Amino acid sequence: MAFLCVDIGGTNTLIGVGNGDFEIVKEVKSQEFLEDMGACLEKTLSNGKINDIDRVAVAAAGPLDRDRGVFYPPNIDLEEVQIKRPLEAFGDVRIVNDCTAAVLGEYYYGDHSVDNLLYVTISSGIGAGLIVDGNLVEGWNGNFGEVGHMQVGEDSRDCGCGGEDHWEAYCSGNSLPRTAEKTTGEDFRDARQVFEKAGNGDKAAEKTLERMNEINAKAFANLVNLYNPEKIVLGGAVALNHPEEVIEPILPGIKEQIANEAPEVEKCTLEEEAVLHGLRAACNGKPDSGCGCC
Ligand SMILES: [Zn+2]
Repeated sequence: MAFLCVDIGGTNTLIGVGNGDFEIVKEVKSQEFLEDMGACLEKTLSNGKINDIDRVAVAAAGPLDRDRGVFYPPNIDLEEVQIKRPLEAFGDVRIVNDCTAAVLGEYYYGDHSVDNLLYVTISSGIGAGLIVDGNLVEGWNGNFGEVGHMQVGEDSRDCGCGGEDHWEAYCSGNSLPRTAEKTTGEDFRDARQVFEKAGNGDKAAEKTLERMNEINAKAFANLVNLYNPEKIVLGGAVALNHPEEVIEPILPGIKEQIANEAPEVEKCTLEEEAVLHGLRAACNGKPDSGCGCC
């Protein structure tokens, strides 16, 4: 029997199908996908190659209500989307937090060989997924990993959640221009421009990245002290597009602030496909059991 995996990202949605092999069959804008999920999936699967789907796993970049099967898209002009019901037409549906799916993907299909693995995404927001002693940590209602709302700053900076001085209010892609403004008084269009200008030796941009790295080191040190990971892997556009600026510079700062042994820190192996491969793992019964064939 085959299975269907759907990763609803902030911008794009990836759809994968497994039936012995695993294949990514479609990438579509998330707005378009969420406006009519059923039609999009029917069209994607209409070539008839896969017609025996009985399991579905779905992840979404944003708050989920697993009991109601509802997703609240943070960056898309839709208030509340029922994601479970349209997918039930294809089989039993499992809804997974996106960072939880990503750590599962990295654990089973990435290149790591550790049983204590922490995945952190730094993109428009910041979140984490965690494997401890080979066990997936999902939390009470499946929403483990809101580490972006850990308090690490002291500038009285507003966070999108209504809180103050949270990690993602300083270091997410969306927040970096605000960090630049607060640190240097200079205006930057977006995070990409900060990295571009820093690469060209712009002092204000360099100072912004120094501030970002100071906060990142503090936040990662907290996570190391809490969870004792053997390895931390980073995903999300900010980390994936700028690993040299984001990873290397924070290692000494992490070491200085931890009581535990320092873990390895590196870019995630599966990059933008980590979430989808985690859903693939979930459909294969992992981490509890599994056929292991695909
Ligand atoms: Zn917050």
